[in-house]
Amino acid sequence: MDPLELIAVTPADTEGIGAALAPLLRPRDAVMLTGELGAGKTTLVRGIARGLDVDEHVASPTFTLVREYRGRLAVAHVDVYRLDHVQDVVDLGLDEIADGEAVLLVEWGDAVEELLADDRLRVELVGADPTGEDDTRLVRLRAVGPSWAERWQQVTEALDGWRSNR
Ligand code: ADP
Ligand code: MG
Repeated sequence: MDPLELIAVTPADTEGIGAALAPLLRPRDAVMLTGELGAGKTTLVRGIARGLDVDEHVASPTFTLVREYRGRLAVAHVDVYRLDHVQDVVDLGLDEIADGEAVLLVEWGDAVEELLADDRLRVELVGADPTGEDDTRLVRLRAVGPSWAERWQQVTEALDGWRSNR
């Protein structure tokens, strides 16, 4: 399964990618977002929440570790902002959120993703311009495990408008 390479020229693009992905999400899904501070992880989560009809404001859960939202699905939004919080995240009892049915959205996913989910969607955000003058982000999506591999065609179609390698 080749990764899907997308280009987000503006924050609205990044949010739009999240919103377009939302209809494909199912209870218990895990989306692991990696990328430096300011790369756009929370922006993309905000788009997913909008696509799931979440009314609450979505902000980085930095001081709470996990925030819960309710839209068409329950959402657990986690930010593992420091490596020493990895065990805290494991201890959170994410299984207890929404009876374990919540969609899990994890910022800085790579530190914990194996611990939290076998099947997962990896989303990697990178600034296209090292000087930071240009806001463009490269967004790379990768299916890990059968449940995302099975949906890959749909994912590709839903995000077609942002593809860099059409
Ligand atoms: P992270 O959660 O990865 O730290 P945020 O989503 O909180 O990042 O912040 C990203 C910041 O970069 C926001 O201030 C946003 O407006 C800005 N930004 C500029 N261009 C983009 C883009 N193309 N995609 C996402 N965010 C962008
Ligand atoms: Mg963030």
